[in-house]
Amino acid sequence: MIRWKYLRGALLSAALTIATPASAIAAVATTAPTLLDVDTRLAAIAWRLTTANAALCRDPQPVTGATLHAIDQYPASAIAPGSYAAPVLVELVLPDTPAARAGLQPDDGLIAVADRPVPAPAAAGDAAGRVTSATRDAARAMIAARPVAAPLPLTIRRNGTSRVITVTPVPGCRVEFEVLAGNLVGASSDGHVVQVGGRLFTMFDDDQIAVVVAHELGHAVLRHRARLEAAGVTWGLLSEFGRNARLFRQTETEADLMGAYLLRNAGWDPRIAVTFWREQGGKVDGGLFRSRTHPSSKARAEAIERAIATIPADAPMPYLPPLLEQRDAPLDGARGSTP
Ligand SMILES: [Zn+2]
Repeated sequence: MIRWKYLRGALLSAALTIATPASAIAAVATTAPTLLDVDTRLAAIAWRLTTANAALCRDPQPVTGATLHAIDQYPASAIAPGSYAAPVLVELVLPDTPAARAGLQPDDGLIAVADRPVPAPAAAGDAAGRVTSATRDAARAMIAARPVAAPLPLTIRRNGTSRVITVTPVPGCRVEFEVLAGNLVGASSDGHVVQVGGRLFTMFDDDQIAVVVAHELGHAVLRHRARLEAAGVTWGLLSEFGRNARLFRQTETEADLMGAYLLRNAGWDPRIAVTFWREQGGKVDGGLFRSRTHPSSKARAEAIERAIATIPADAPMPYLPPLLEQRDAPLDGARGSTP
């Protein structure tokens, strides 16, 4: 777990090639996935998990199936002036989602949400490569603040013409997903934003990445960040020792188990999580997963297998496991006896 810090421009130096707005995408001949490729894969996995498990999330938000980006997420050198419809743009539209059905398209400029203008940067990131996701985040927040089930009128600009496209969103968990720049082979969550290391997408297929994403969504469903803070744990070096380590390990195990339930609710065979930790767990060790606060891959696989066995054969979709009741309980149940 780390504080949310996302510098998209850093992808320029990573194994991934950058995709810029306005379809100036994938012009580079390469076998490496583009940023749009990995963003699309993550968005599809996140869509499936967050919408299927909306009933398990205390904080829902309207979900459309489209993602946004903004020109100041990219260095000025990557953005041709005048090549985009507006500073905030639809990055991608997943098929068979509310956004697709309403006719939203990639590269549509987003001008307003329910008649409220979207704040816009004047220009792309500066020549020094400093970039920010603040504009994109502000636009996302405007959509997230809307009533979950209400029609969502989006004023967009396409081919020089403005129009209103009304999307009928569905409820989803109030969690955003990011591909994290750089070489991390892990994932983390601060409770609201889930970051997934870009390199995972070159190593694993979508089912395997779904295991990692479901684990992180499990942290959010169980409100681990807030509960760890309420328990007064310390992040950083001291997190690896004593009571801190024990509480982190507890949240990791809970997220593994919840992740299996979330996968199952979203239509995956939850046993892919058992297989993942058994066969791939050793690979997910170079980044955020390498810590004595995480159980061994073998122990994770076994614990998940036991949890899956507790799902009743006739469990409904979605299934709300007893573990869900933990989300409002203090993490440190034994606090009174261990000062
Ligand atoms: Zn975790």
